[in-house]
Amino acid sequence: MTDETKFSVMVSLFEWIQKTKYPTKKRSKFRKFLDAFCKPDDYFSAIRLILPSLDREEGLLWTQGVGARHLPRRRTRHVQGVPDALRLFNWRKGGAKTGVNAGNSLSSPSSGTLFLTLFYWLGKQVLQSRQGMSSGGLTIKELNDLLDSLALSENRAEKTSVLSTLIKKTNAQEMKWIIMIILKDLKLGISEKSIFHEFHPDAEDLFNVTCDLKLVCEKLKDRSQRHKRQDIEVGKAVRPQLAMRVSDAHSAWKKLHGKDVVLECKFDGDRIQIHKNGPEVHYFSRNFLDHSEYGHGMSDLIIQNVLVDRCILDGEMLVWDSSLNRFAEFGSNQEIAKAAKDGLDSDRQLCYVAFDILYVGDTSVIHQSLRERHDLLRKFVRPLKGRLEILVPDGGLNDHRLPGEPPCSLIAYNVNDVERFFEETVKNRDEGIIIKDLGSKWEPSDRSGKWLKMKPEYIQAASDLDVLIIGGYYGSGRHGGEVAQFLVGLAELPAPNTYPRRFISFCRVGTGLSDDELAAVVTKLKPYFRKYEYPKKGPPSFYHVTNNSKERPDVWIESPEKSIILSITSDIRTISSEVFAAPYSLRFPRIDRVRYDKPWHECLDVQSFVELVHSSNGT
Ligand code: ATP
Repeated sequence: MTDETKFSVMVSLFEWIQKTKYPTKKRSKFRKFLDAFCKPDDYFSAIRLILPSLDREEGLLWTQGVGARHLPRRRTRHVQGVPDALRLFNWRKGGAKTGVNAGNSLSSPSSGTLFLTLFYWLGKQVLQSRQGMSSGGLTIKELNDLLDSLALSENRAEKTSVLSTLIKKTNAQEMKWIIMIILKDLKLGISEKSIFHEFHPDAEDLFNVTCDLKLVCEKLKDRSQRHKRQDIEVGKAVRPQLAMRVSDAHSAWKKLHGKDVVLECKFDGDRIQIHKNGPEVHYFSRNFLDHSEYGHGMSDLIIQNVLVDRCILDGEMLVWDSSLNRFAEFGSNQEIAKAAKDGLDSDRQLCYVAFDILYVGDTSVIHQSLRERHDLLRKFVRPLKGRLEILVPDGGLNDHRLPGEPPCSLIAYNVNDVERFFEETVKNRDEGIIIKDLGSKWEPSDRSGKWLKMKPEYIQAASDLDVLIIGGYYGSGRHGGEVAQFLVGLAELPAPNTYPRRFISFCRVGTGLSDDELAAVVTKLKPYFRKYEYPKKGPPSFYHVTNNSKERPDVWIESPEKSIILSITSDIRTISSEVFAAPYSLRFPRIDRVRYDKPWHECLDVQSFVELVHSSNGT
């Protein structure tokens, strides 16, 4: 590529690749483009535009720093005034969750959308009058420079000036591709793997262990020269070991047949690699961005409690609520990191759960077995309750669980262990489980099945199951002292034009509500809780229950008209009920929402529910 190579050449390549069906043709066209238009020194400038989601250099910055203050006041109206913008706006909203945006609030789709809106706001008039005009002559080099300065510009005036230049030098088609680059998803129908492979046979491997596109482009200029396999290094993000999805315990057990297996809770936070290099600590997310904001309040802890000078930990960054003695729901990491930075006092603090260790001292340990890596975790990380935890089958975070709470890491000996662990974990409001081969090594970017993940699949029932709360169960462990789950009932079909008089116990449900929503329901119902004094005094007469002790709630709702309706969704499989009085119960029920708007007597009746089950089973 000379300095003069036009971006329009690249746009033609993009358009061609997008339209072509055949993967091999797409690949060879890309190779021809590199050979014909790029000098080895310019590979990075071109490849970062083709694989924008891997470009760490600007990845964060392109979408960062364009806040609401840069937007026109009536954002919606402006966007709606531009049909193309709206199309793209919707496309992005409905688009695939890309690696870059997944789980990262700094470069979240919404900030991308803000940028898009801004971009169209600025370019709207120009665009409308320039549809179909010839290229504005922008070169690939200029585009790189402009995107860099956009990333580095600190105020609105600077950004506006860069964007104006960009708008002047492009036609509508080029603009479209620039926006796709900024949004990091070109939708070319060619995989990152193919692009890497066509560029250099060792490119993917090198990228996996360095997450550094510039370095890959610089080191692998000569396609005929093979590169010595490189191991991971402290200070360079490495692409994570991934988990393969399985649908149930039996397929998981079959998949890991004959292996030693550990079961772990799937924590719902940010996957973060912590790289400690003496006094320097980095926090790399799945998209290899360095989340320095986690450093406040966390780095000192790592320096003191990771007992080796150089180390890489793999784990999940979560928020620990010390007043509730439990992890907070997903989504508050950034807010808590900011509070720590501002020195604000809070019951909530960042807590890192290390479930793996990848580097110790001066050696990578990813080739050792998980069992050996667990030993290293125990040896080199000193856990601190609610701040820094290690996830190992004996000790570690298990020791910090409250009495009654299920363990969060456990060796499995048979399929029943997997089934039981899964059910308990899901009941405990965790996201699911991870099942790992204890003999396996840790491999960057691998999803071949060394780790499996199992999550309940909630599907919306064909019609809403609106059920009535008839009792409550105290939470064990972390929910101790408060009602954390409900016994819900179905109505016995009432006589025409009357309200139901009896409710039949149906299932126990605890998941689905946020902490605040759960607290609101409990506060509303608390005045009507009545303790169950079995066997002296049975439940209120309008509830029909079995004698099974598993069903017995700790408190009953004094009378149905004081209660609240919940909308429940569930796994498709309803189960015949032995524990509850209704003929069927649900598997992994989940509260979809609280129906404050529905009076108690509009509860679903048993007969309608049975019909629903029969129609969905085809019987
Ligand atoms: P998901 O959206 O289901 O989290 P993903 O594509 O982000 O999936 P996967 O590798 O498929 O990632 O699933 C494993 C993810 O689960 C990890 O990336 C990590 O963030 C999270 N996780 C939570 N607890 C654990 C654990 N104990 N071991 C491994 N990963 C865990």
